[in-house]
Amino acid sequence: MLSTDALADKFLRLRGDFPVFRENPGLVYLDSAATTQKPESVIGSIVDFYEKSNSNVHRGVYPLAERATSLYENSRRAVSVFLDSSYEEVIFTKSTTEGLNMLASSLAGTGVYKTFAVPVFEHHSNFVPWQQYAKRNGLDFLPLPVSGVELSIESVRRVLSQIRAPFVFAVTGLVNSTGYRTDFEEIAELVHNHGGVIALDGAQLIPHERFSFRNSEIDFLAFSGHKLLAETGVGCLLMKKKFQEEIPPFLFGGEMVNWVEESDTSFAEGVSKFEGGTPNISGAISLKAAVEYLETVDMDLLEAHVANLTDLARQKLSAIPGLTIHSPENSHAIVMFTHEKIHSHDLSEFLGRRLNIAVRSGHHCSQLQLKSLGLTSSCRASFYLYNTFEDVGRLAEGIEEAVRWFL
Ligand code: PMP
Repeated sequence: MLSTDALADKFLRLRGDFPVFRENPGLVYLDSAATTQKPESVIGSIVDFYEKSNSNVHRGVYPLAERATSLYENSRRAVSVFLDSSYEEVIFTKSTTEGLNMLASSLAGTGVYKTFAVPVFEHHSNFVPWQQYAKRNGLDFLPLPVSGVELSIESVRRVLSQIRAPFVFAVTGLVNSTGYRTDFEEIAELVHNHGGVIALDGAQLIPHERFSFRNSEIDFLAFSGHKLLAETGVGCLLMKKKFQEEIPPFLFGGEMVNWVEESDTSFAEGVSKFEGGTPNISGAISLKAAVEYLETVDMDLLEAHVANLTDLARQKLSAIPGLTIHSPENSHAIVMFTHEKIHSHDLSEFLGRRLNIAVRSGHHCSQLQLKSLGLTSSCRASFYLYNTFEDVGRLAEGIEEAVRWFL
């Protein structure tokens, strides 16, 4: 592994791949948990598709259409390589939100599962669909309390010993408000031992660490392309093959059918069943460019660099009087904080408008996590491969300047 400085140097050189920093000199972008910036290769892949190969996929038999189809399917293959899964387990979706809605609605529709269980610190996209589809289908819904910002294995064990099986347990890999990494590997084992299945919200995890779907006990994995350098409007739901027959489709329409008769329809097999309608073709192609870029960078080095940035941020911010860090000590990629006297909106507006430092403020689509901390709003700085130690320094100095200005 490279030293901290050598890593920082390597990643500093990669910043040149991201045109946004050329176009916005002085920008300190610390909102990658909301969406990441895009490298030239990703932007180029989208332009290239529209200039050279634009056509619908899986339909026409003329060369342009065949090229579009093969680009789209190559993207599925690239995602499966990146996540070490089978090509036949990758379903293209619009986003994590769509993947999780698809899953909650479809799993509820099987009539097999009795309970949906979800920790309360989840992003609303991994909480509300389970809550609402459970309600609509008369299933039990079990919101798991968290202690502060963490989910202990003991509390999971306790809940699982009382749960009605078979059940679905949905959990995030990395909490988007605080950067707490869950122990989803151990949770998955417990869930299976108690007769449940597990869905992982990978929206924050997948951009940040190497992941093997094949070697994990995760049954379903959802993530969004735009949080790992690709376009918005594309994501994936990975579904282990053994579930694909039992789970009904979510979107009925073109290309997901086998035969349509007046009285009923038989559905396509495999992942096609879950991809009704024209997909986001350029989005999928951009996702291939994105994962290939990440593979060239090396996910292990990326993780180490982001961990260094996060450690430094926690260290610098914790030295500012009046500032509270709510993220745990080992949070990854994310630091959530509040100031005792300055509202988080005022603080982030000051940082953004006066100093060109982009941090998020609000409830981060995680109202229950904030409620459990007695908060309604907080600031969140999040880091990715193009961030530097200088960015972290500017954040800390910016907060100090805001404190002098407001108080
Ligand atoms: N889950 C988590 C953990 C997230 O951070 C987000 C996005 N902030 C989502 C789900 C939803 O992602 P999207 O808006 O791309 O569907």
